[in-house]
Amino acid sequence: MSAFEYRHGQLHVEDLPLSEIAQEVGTPFFCYSTQAMVNAYNSFSDALAKAGVKGTICYALKANSNQSVIQTLAKAGAGADVVSEGELRRALQAGVDPKKIVFAGVGKKPSEMAVGLKAGILQFNVESLPELEALSAVAQKMGVTAPVAFRINPDVDAKTHAKISTGKAENKFGIDIPSVRNFVEQAKALPNIAVESLAVHIGSQLTDASPFKDAFARLAGLYRELQSAGLPLKRIDFGGGLGIQYNDETPPDLTEYAQAVSEAMQGLDAECIFEPGRFLVGNAGVLVTETIYVKDGTNRRFLIIDAAMNDLIRPSLYDAWHDVTPLKQPDEETPLKPCDIVGPICESGDTFATQRPLPEIAAGDLLAMESAGAYGAVMASSYNTRLNAPEVLVKADQYAVVRKRIDYDTLIKQDILPEWLSE
Ligand SMILES: *Cc1c(COP(=O)(O)O)cnc(C)c1O
Repeated sequence: MSAFEYRHGQLHVEDLPLSEIAQEVGTPFFCYSTQAMVNAYNSFSDALAKAGVKGTICYALKANSNQSVIQTLAKAGAGADVVSEGELRRALQAGVDPKKIVFAGVGKKPSEMAVGLKAGILQFNVESLPELEALSAVAQKMGVTAPVAFRINPDVDAKTHAKISTGKAENKFGIDIPSVRNFVEQAKALPNIAVESLAVHIGSQLTDASPFKDAFARLAGLYRELQSAGLPLKRIDFGGGLGIQYNDETPPDLTEYAQAVSEAMQGLDAECIFEPGRFLVGNAGVLVTETIYVKDGTNRRFLIIDAAMNDLIRPSLYDAWHDVTPLKQPDEETPLKPCDIVGPICESGDTFATQRPLPEIAAGDLLAMESAGAYGAVMASSYNTRLNAPEVLVKADQYAVVRKRIDYDTLIKQDILPEWLSE
């Protein structure tokens, strides 16, 4: 059962009509379902258990780092995959066990490394020699040992959008396999470094299982090789990237994914780490918006809505598809008419959908942009001096505003006038 479905002619999130929340919170706003997140987490973890894989699911915070989302998943058992000091602080504040936190990212600064070392996190996923040297220096200064995973670039094509593909040799991410062997030697000479793990992450929104299989096989092959060469490895990190359904794509099912992991793990005794982000939250959220105007152009009908690319940038950044669903259930016989759904921002790229068949929509009608739980609110900006869309979390028949809409005063007051202008 989906967490978002029509009941009595109204789109509900769990047991609440979205229109009721809209009335109280105002539009646009993001709305997340607890049940959908917990179900996604449990299905991921069950699939691994069924395939005989033991491991930790470290939720990739960058998909949605609202404190209440992190805590919901942490309560279900998740650790965290963080890519900045800010995310690390969020994870710690949400009560995630440091021993379940992995710190990824190509550009960790020494000051950020220090925060991770102080907290005693599980591992730093290191992507370059200069980074390894920096980590060694910070750890030495602090008198601690840094647990390290080498993030491998397995040179496989994730067959996803170019902007979210990370596992090809030409991408900035990871260490290519031939260099890893040198790295291991150099790491031995560096103080306060313990190489314990190997990691991959080949991209996001993967809808094909074969790149996973290829990458996992290469990762496991290298693991075996380095381990038999005497490197005391104990963990293997399979990254994130499992796709979800936005439109008509068919992402690999969890059984197939877990199978790919268990095949790669044949004969290996290692703790597995997974870093799913989008999979856990993407389809657990919607962006609710109101139609401001219906504008009939010469040969196009535009629905001008009060959400914009500053709230949800995925359509303009990745040409992403989001289902658009009226909150009020249309009659089945209602004829559909193609509409362009656009926001109020002064950019042609501020377009959510083109020629999307929709029933008759009037000004004031509420719409839900579906699958907006991942890479939505976290990528928002205040472009055009628009206020942030608040975030709401629902659990059964309760809801809470988990991030409020700030007011114009607060927003404008972030700017500081230099003395010479305020005289
Ligand atoms: C972005 C990212 C993830 C999560 O990717 P999803 O596609 O959201 O699952 C996991 N690991 C790393 C290192 C990332 O950069």
